[in-house]
Amino acid sequence: MAQMLNKTNPTSSNKAANDYMPIRVLTTMSQDWVIKGRITMKSAIKNFSGNRPGKMFSIIIIDHEGTEIEGTFFNEGVDLFFDTIEQGKTYLFSGGYVKLASQQYRKVNNDYQISFDKKSAIVQTQDNGEIAAAKLTLVPLSELKNLPDKRTVDVCGVIVEVSDMAEFTSKKGDNLVKRNIKIMDQSMAMVDLALWGDDATKADWNVIDLEAFPVVVAAKVRISHFDGISLTTDRGISRVLIDPDDYLAIVRDLKEWKRNPRDSEILAENLTVKSEKKSSRQLKTIKEIKEYWENADPSTKEAFYNVRAFVGFIKRDDRQSMTYESCINKDKCKKKAILDSDGLYHCSSCNKAFNKPIPRYILTLRIHDSTESAYVTAFDDTAAQLLKISAEDLMEMMAIDEIGFDNVVSNALQKEWAFTIKAQSNSSDRGGARMKLVLASVREVNKMEAADRILEEITQAIHGNN
Ligand SMILES: [Zn+2]
Repeated sequence: MAQMLNKTNPTSSNKAANDYMPIRVLTTMSQDWVIKGRITMKSAIKNFSGNRPGKMFSIIIIDHEGTEIEGTFFNEGVDLFFDTIEQGKTYLFSGGYVKLASQQYRKVNNDYQISFDKKSAIVQTQDNGEIAAAKLTLVPLSELKNLPDKRTVDVCGVIVEVSDMAEFTSKKGDNLVKRNIKIMDQSMAMVDLALWGDDATKADWNVIDLEAFPVVVAAKVRISHFDGISLTTDRGISRVLIDPDDYLAIVRDLKEWKRNPRDSEILAENLTVKSEKKSSRQLKTIKEIKEYWENADPSTKEAFYNVRAFVGFIKRDDRQSMTYESCINKDKCKKKAILDSDGLYHCSSCNKAFNKPIPRYILTLRIHDSTESAYVTAFDDTAAQLLKISAEDLMEMMAIDEIGFDNVVSNALQKEWAFTIKAQSNSSDRGGARMKLVLASVREVNKMEAADRILEEITQAIHGNN
């Protein structure tokens, strides 16, 4: 045993083989530590230019307790270790520097990371099966918006949309392949996942059967805050698996959940919304939205439009006309809670019973611009932005402060708003073609902007628009 351990590092002692410590005890104060773990991820070498050009690669180590930590290697460290360590194998690690992990770029759930260099020793050791292959720390999709840009996470979800593959050339001249899929989970959120390279091409995406509720487990994918919230794979780091046998319970639960939809998919929050700025020139009038939708390809399930409009009416007869009673698992679950014969509310997703559900908005508005008016549904987030108050607080106000309640509602009326509106076919309608409009995002138009827009319109009218 000792011989094997000392193969590449004569200074390491026998003691190290048994005296390794759990990763969880490592801090920046740790000295003379030894950890034992499996490398579950080894990235490709990344070259960087700039003031201090160099190269680096990173690994993820998991120990017998399931704690993960990221290790990084720069320059000399890359030369020393890149060819000698292998993903999937177990090693004793020592002589690295424990540093605070970047809040933004961290790949695992650990406040620390290790930097390895020429003073470090990484020695292959017996793999007696006590260390798991890899660990998933699944983040509910609705939580993604609370995490920083570029953070790496593990997620899973039912695939609800697969887009065509796109091929293009990068600035450096590399050929790139990308495919977007949209996934959804029990937290009632939907998000786009951009697959790059092999992940975009490997599975037979073109024949995937969405009716079978395929489940994707995506490990180590990166959050992007670019168009709302989206996810993207990272070359050599991410793993994207469809209906994987290794995660049978997760796959089964998600399929089961999607197969029995108690709520309409409309209630799910779409985290990936194309930013308004990018398409501000494509402002549509309400009349145009209706026309576009009527002329859209019949297979179009949804489309997004930007519009400037006023709110002329908000349905406000009673609590039921403005809100629905939702699960108390706040921020995690938006499901409608069902009042059962036992007098308690139940959430079928969280399998919880409770006395007092949390009201969430399901608001009916009529919006109008100079061309036409339309009914639009606003769910919790957008309705709260419109009324500038949470559903819970407004419902309390409705009960005890009629004037305050009136003020909240009338403040939202007769103001110009920048809306992103999602049009979708109303599947409950037998014709199938009727349009249902949902508020996807809302922002108050300030006076400067309104003036700018008028100026732009005048300029266009003068110079023509080609
Ligand atoms: Zn719930």
